Amino acid sequence: MPKNRKRKEQAEADHNPKLPTKTTPKDPYPNHARPTREECVSVRDDLLALHGFPKEFAKYREQRLSSQASNGHDNDVSSEPLDEKESVLDGLVRTLLSQNTTESNSLKAFASLKSAFPTWEEVLAADSQSLESAIRCGGLAKTKASCIKNMLSCLLEKKEKLCLEYLRDLSVDEIKAELSHFKGIGPKTVACVLMFQLQQDDFPVDTHVYEIAKAMAWVPVGADRNKTYLHLNQWIPDELKFDLNCLLYTHGKLCRKCIKKGGSTGKQQEKESEDSNSCPLLRYCK
Ligand SMILES: [Zn+2]
Repeated sequence: MPKNRKRKEQAEADHNPKLPTKTTPKDPYPNHARPTREECVSVRDDLLALHGFPKEFAKYREQRLSSQASNGHDNDVSSEPLDEKESVLDGLVRTLLSQNTTESNSLKAFASLKSAFPTWEEVLAADSQSLESAIRCGGLAKTKASCIKNMLSCLLEKKEKLCLEYLRDLSVDEIKAELSHFKGIGPKTVACVLMFQLQQDDFPVDTHVYEIAKAMAWVPVGADRNKTYLHLNQWIPDELKFDLNCLLYTHGKLCRKCIKKGGSTGKQQEKESEDSNSCPLLRYCK
């Protein structure tokens, strides 16, 4: 039950008096004073020099910059034409479909879903088996189909229409509260939607980011993924979150050296350090 988990985390966090203050205390490791701002900047710059800014995220980066620019004026950001932007609901379902599968399979599953059921009303009205076959190529079809259906019916009940655009006007905490009502939508999915569709400053922790964060000791040994998420969100400065996240994710997909070095001992580690020049993160890994 996500609700119980949330309550437990909150209880744990409430014991810690020395939290860096934000809206709510959430850091499970307030005394683990890393990563520092300097480390974040330095890792970002090293990865940017190595990979450049990853093309697959360039579109979202532009949307952020243009949304920040219009925030500086008195324009209402939500009145921007939506046709160029992916809708929040599309983004949420696309993120759900990307769980436990490769990028290309999840893209295929989303395209197949859209071609079988062009509107969300049709998805909701579809029988479970047709829905499952439409998204089968993305894996875990039964679980994902029931999660999508459940989310759509909750949304319809609550808002009387299948649209999540109202989230664009809410704060990060409010958005998290809204999305946590839907069964099967975990913190990583919420964080991705916050970062990509809603242009908020959040730092999702997927497998790649998690492995690198552990290798660089940005979290204590034994930290699980959700605590890593809570900790990194407190320590990584907001304005660095988006770029750093895209870069760490991209680096994690392309390089295994830093992850191995952070987690291994003995011969393997010696062997890895022979070509330490090839990965700039090795110098941050113990
Ligand atoms: Zn590396």
